[in-house]
Amino acid sequence: MTLLASSVGPPPAEADGGIGLSCRGLVYIYRLEGYDVVALAGVDLDIAPGESVALVGPSGSGKSTLMSVFGGLLTPSAGRLVVGGRDITRAGPGELAQMRATSVGVVLQGPGRNTLPYLSAEQNIEFAQRGAAGGRRRGLPPAREVLALVGLTGRHQMRSRPGRLTPGERQRLALGVALANAPGLLLADEPTSQLDSRARDEVVVALESVRRAGTTVVIVTHDPAVGASMGRTVTIRDGRVGAEGRSGEDFAVVGRDGSIHLPAEALQVFPPGTFVRVVMEPDGSARLLPAQPANVVLPANVVEPAQPTVPDLWGEEYR
Ligand code: ADP
Ligand code: MG
Repeated sequence: MTLLASSVGPPPAEADGGIGLSCRGLVYIYRLEGYDVVALAGVDLDIAPGESVALVGPSGSGKSTLMSVFGGLLTPSAGRLVVGGRDITRAGPGELAQMRATSVGVVLQGPGRNTLPYLSAEQNIEFAQRGAAGGRRRGLPPAREVLALVGLTGRHQMRSRPGRLTPGERQRLALGVALANAPGLLLADEPTSQLDSRARDEVVVALESVRRAGTTVVIVTHDPAVGASMGRTVTIRDGRVGAEGRSGEDFAVVGRDGSIHLPAEALQVFPPGTFVRVVMEPDGSARLLPAQPANVVLPANVVEPAQPTVPDLWGEEYR
């Protein structure tokens, strides 16, 4: 299945169906003056071609950083990332730019960052297609087809500048701009934030059309309904994959260092700092038992810490 197939010429290889990605031990460190921020602390993730995935998790957990690394906007500090069979970790700036121009479409958070304000919707798509090399450009779909894929079909919607569109239409135009070059992978950071539920649902429908056309879709969202619509959710916590959800069921994921992020309800029983005895059962399952180690004796002058409070794992925006 070819995304946005055009009747003119053969589709480029990258557009022929979705492309997958695979990363192992992906690390990204923001180096600031005087200190470093470890935004990604070893992400292991596989996304198959044609899959649709929602990255969820608390604010500051590394979702946007992960999207930027996937999209070739940031170079990982360590680890391995393969996008559509291409090893991005070793790619130079030229190769990364080419990847963005042909195989990966990125929608940054906030639709205004993805469109040009003085061009109509149609012209925005055409402008995005200008970067493509001659032969490839001829194989791209007309702007109207791209806009139709994201549900912008009215004359007003096609001819208007972004500022005259509704917030939902503007967001769908941002998706269209990212799809203009018929990428095999669409990355969208919070494409439904700040939309009312109707506009949000229209974006969800647009994303579903994109996925049905064969493109792999990866989004960041805080909206549980949007996450559920994607089929697979990956929870990022502290710069790692903390949990995976499939068809509404959540699974904790054992990290490469053997660690496991407990779900919120388990944290009520095992607050951070709790000593836990892990008892392996003959049937292959394991039990977690809270334990008070006998050999831990607090010196007399040390006041035993108050019961730690359960951190609010979901952050502000979940409430
Ligand atoms: P999320 O999208 O899940 O909210 P981010 O990827 O934006 O998370 O941020 C992950 C961590 O990296 C946070 O601690 C954040 O403060 C930090 N961070 C993000 N962007 C920058 C930046 N440009 N410079 C320095 N630190 C950053
Ligand atoms: Mg973010």
